[in-house]
Amino acid sequence: MATRSNPLIDDGLVDFLLYSVLDAEGLCQLGAYEQHSKETFDLYVDSVRRFARQDLLPTYKPMDEEPPVFRDGRVHTHPALPALFGQMVDLGVLTATCPETVGGQQMPTLVHTMATAYLMAANLGAYGFVGLTHGAANLIEAFGTDEVKERFMAKMYAGEWTGTMALTEPQAGSSLGDIATSATPTDEGHYLIKGSKIFISGADHGITENVVNLALARIDGAPDGTKGISLFAVPRLREENGSLVSNDVTVAGLIHKIGWRALPSLALEFGDEGDCRGWLVGEPNQGLRYMFQMMNEARIMIGVNGAATASVAYHESLSYALGRKQGRRLGARGGEQISIIEHADVRRMLLRQKAIVEGSFALLGTVSRYADVAEHGASEEDRERAGLLLNLLTPIAKTFPAERGFESNVLAVQIHGGYGYTSEYLPEAYMRDQKLNTLHEGTNAIQSMDLLGRQVVAKGGAALRALAEEIGSAIARAREAGCDPELCSELEEAMATVGSTTMELGQRGMAGDADGMLGHSWDYLDMFATLVIGWQWLNMAAVARTAPISEERRRATEAAAQYWLRTEVPRIPHLANLCRTNEDSYIKAEPEWF
Ligand SMILES: Cc1cc2nc3c(=O)[nH]c(=O)nc-3n(C[C@H](O)[C@H](O)[C@H](O)COP(=O)(O)OP(=O)(O)OC[C@H]3O[C@@H](n4cnc5c(N)ncnc54)[C@H](O)[C@@H]3O)c2cc1C
Repeated sequence: MATRSNPLIDDGLVDFLLYSVLDAEGLCQLGAYEQHSKETFDLYVDSVRRFARQDLLPTYKPMDEEPPVFRDGRVHTHPALPALFGQMVDLGVLTATCPETVGGQQMPTLVHTMATAYLMAANLGAYGFVGLTHGAANLIEAFGTDEVKERFMAKMYAGEWTGTMALTEPQAGSSLGDIATSATPTDEGHYLIKGSKIFISGADHGITENVVNLALARIDGAPDGTKGISLFAVPRLREENGSLVSNDVTVAGLIHKIGWRALPSLALEFGDEGDCRGWLVGEPNQGLRYMFQMMNEARIMIGVNGAATASVAYHESLSYALGRKQGRRLGARGGEQISIIEHADVRRMLLRQKAIVEGSFALLGTVSRYADVAEHGASEEDRERAGLLLNLLTPIAKTFPAERGFESNVLAVQIHGGYGYTSEYLPEAYMRDQKLNTLHEGTNAIQSMDLLGRQVVAKGGAALRALAEEIGSAIARAREAGCDPELCSELEEAMATVGSTTMELGQRGMAGDADGMLGHSWDYLDMFATLVIGWQWLNMAAVARTAPISEERRRATEAAAQYWLRTEVPRIPHLANLCRTNEDSYIKAEPEWF
């Protein structure tokens, strides 16, 4: 068997998801997307994936091996980055989902998600500059005054300046209510910003002349905690009399990271000289609300990153398993060595990776479509329902590809045997990259508390009811399509278990027993995600029965669906039991015992 070059992501999967499972063309019936068609979608995805394979992928290893350096107070990134960044801007990636009024193409999030996944799979750190700039400019577009938009947004969307998200401080990571950076009003329309930020990605680089940090800070006299946090645009350089001058933003240090090494993450000081100017974005004290409003998009993008990083490693290990010869069939005596893909345990690892990677992409496509309908749906009812499902599933879309993606990345190393443990092969680097996705944009533990403490119980459980309906429809479709009835029943029972467990935990919460409700939020997240991915796989298996796809793809889809529903979904009653009994081994463990 021949080895294959790494496709990053399987194009056939992307087409299957876009056009057979998720009906991307159906979105063109909505006013916002009426200028689009399958042709414009394909054109966009094709151009992005071609660039990812030809131009971006070859730069991944050099950038991993030559991370940025900090010299003379400035950060110097890899010399190939300015050209790559320019090419991504020219491809329209920075503004694809934006309206035409700001130079965008109003591309559905669903299509954009699939396209950007190729960029992330090819070189996630290099893509990071684009993703961060889009996120920061998008915040200004949504909440900034015309003056702030004029000052910053147009240059960011044009790719002349880049952006960052500057939230984290040494004492305020997960706990953003403890942010201490201060903002003092002046008579000149701006604020004077003072404080320290840490881990700020892309805050200095030399790719473009300026960077705009979207920073959280507390206006003097603002209330304590989350209610007193405001959002500011704090550029590295500010415009004065037509030229750019220092804005008193200094790089205090470059963080030496184990992954994402193309993209520098920095410790920043605002206002060492007392002259760091920030422009308020939106209303005072609403900063965290604005950030959270944009968080769904950011979290979905982290999920895409997780899926993409697991995908590129999966394809690397698949290629290796086809080419590497070792051992013989069970019971065979002598003869030629066989490719390791012939061994059942290697196929176990490959199918597990496939189930995680493709299940993740299916979920990410589903939530991206909900994001499109939530914003542009035809009726209020459609928009509301899609919004509910989007909020409910976002913690899963962020955490599952990161958590199980890491497991999948470890399997890619394992398939490479001892060679996987060397830096001669790529899987170890992808494994290092993947780890970040469980940490940033709210750690996975924080997501688990958001899911159980907020999303499933919001509006009297309306979102969970909507999800149960979606899963019920998928089961009905699978039965009608002739899928294995046992797999359908497995998912049906799992949904019932998740529903009743949620009700029990919700009642504890309403009775004021927060510990009893949230003690096993991690297991709850695992249970919920396992169900949701089961739903995605059963749905894909049902669609595959009639979709215009190859017989091979149909059978592979059924095999992965069977794998997930038979090996993972049966864990759900056990996880439910842990939540219900509030199994207390770690809950009662005293800090002194460790
Ligand atoms: C490479 C990299 C790039 C980053 N880029 C950016 C960026 O561009 N902009 C930005 O603003 N930030 C960025 N961050 C920061 C990132 O978002 C934070 O590291 C993350 O939010 C976690 O905060 P922390 O590191 O302070 O960890 P902590 O909050 O101290 O958490 C430590 C551990 O305690 C757990 N924990 C904390 N609180 C709770 C709780 N209430 N309940 C249960 N468990 C809890 C966490 O889950 C975690 O396991 C980046 C980080 C890294 C590593």
